[in-house]
Amino acid sequence: SLVAEIEFRGWTGDDRLRHAAFKGLREDKTVREIVRERPADAPARARPAGAGTAAVAQVRKRTAGEVAGVGLTHPDRVLWPDAGLTKQGLAEYYEAVAEWVLPQLVDRPLSLVRCPNGAEAGCFFQKHSWAGLGKSIGRQTVTEENGDAEEVLFIRDLAGLVSLVQSSVLEIHPWGARMADVERADRIVMDLDPGEGVAFPDVMTAAREVRERLAAAKLESFCKTTGGKGLHVVVPLAGPAGWAETKAFAKSLADGMAADSPGRYLAKASKSARRGLIYVDYLRNGRGATAVAAYSTRARPGAPVSLPVRWDELVAGF
Ligand code: ATP
Ligand code: MN
Repeated sequence: SLVAEIEFRGWTGDDRLRHAAFKGLREDKTVREIVRERPADAPARARPAGAGTAAVAQVRKRTAGEVAGVGLTHPDRVLWPDAGLTKQGLAEYYEAVAEWVLPQLVDRPLSLVRCPNGAEAGCFFQKHSWAGLGKSIGRQTVTEENGDAEEVLFIRDLAGLVSLVQSSVLEIHPWGARMADVERADRIVMDLDPGEGVAFPDVMTAAREVRERLAAAKLESFCKTTGGKGLHVVVPLAGPAGWAETKAFAKSLADGMAADSPGRYLAKASKSARRGLIYVDYLRNGRGATAVAAYSTRARPGAPVSLPVRWDELVAGF
């Protein structure tokens, strides 16, 4: 009944639009004149558009099933059915934000959430290599001071990131440390987890309070959504710090908030005591602990991403 202009990258095998963007209604066109358009070199098999849809297409030509030189098997597999986001679409998203996401990921040990059947079924955490691991995904054995050795995975570039997509990685969780220096933290992450009954504006207030306490310690922080329920406050460190020192500092910050506002904050991981309170989780700051990367998607309904927000954007209703 309406004619809209939609810009998109292509059609999936099951007739969904890939990377669709609404450009506006076309009141200058009638529904009757809209047919499914085909590129000139494709067989001319005109098909009427579905009821209520119209596409004035601007298809950017590219090889489906390949992004950044990495082949994708089943590029049309829908990973988030509710958002209609496919494997190819996910790879193209990371290609589009590569400049922002890669500095969050490159040369850090990674924990991965893999969902071979899409975001809504059977996801699992994976930290070690698997059969069929892409060749642009690095692996290295790191040894703790006590001699314990562990294999960690990392990427170097966009090809590595697309290889993760190829393996149905829907969430990427880096350590707060670099491959070259895994025994020291290069950032602090304070994870704010609202318990049941906590309104989101109270989580924003908590993030601002974390920021003020960090500023009092001469540390500048930024805030990001998690793609889930809470917020993360992140401090990129000017120089790396030992894990024990980093975790002790993060704990003292969380303890200080819980001691000063026991009716709002909790610094202990007890799930039962969390109702109505915000858990200030400082445990993201240990060796091997992770937090979701900024710009990573989440394997949750709607294909949300963890997104940095400016402090002045962090207002009710954002
Ligand atoms: P939310 O805002 O919904 O809390 P979140 O990413 O902070 O989103 P949490 O459940 O608070 O989710 O977990 C914090 C972090 O702990 C995660 O980002 C992840 O890096 C790590 N984590 C959670 N579950 C696991 C797990 N099963 N294995 C490894 N790491 C995990
Ligand atoms: Mn959290």
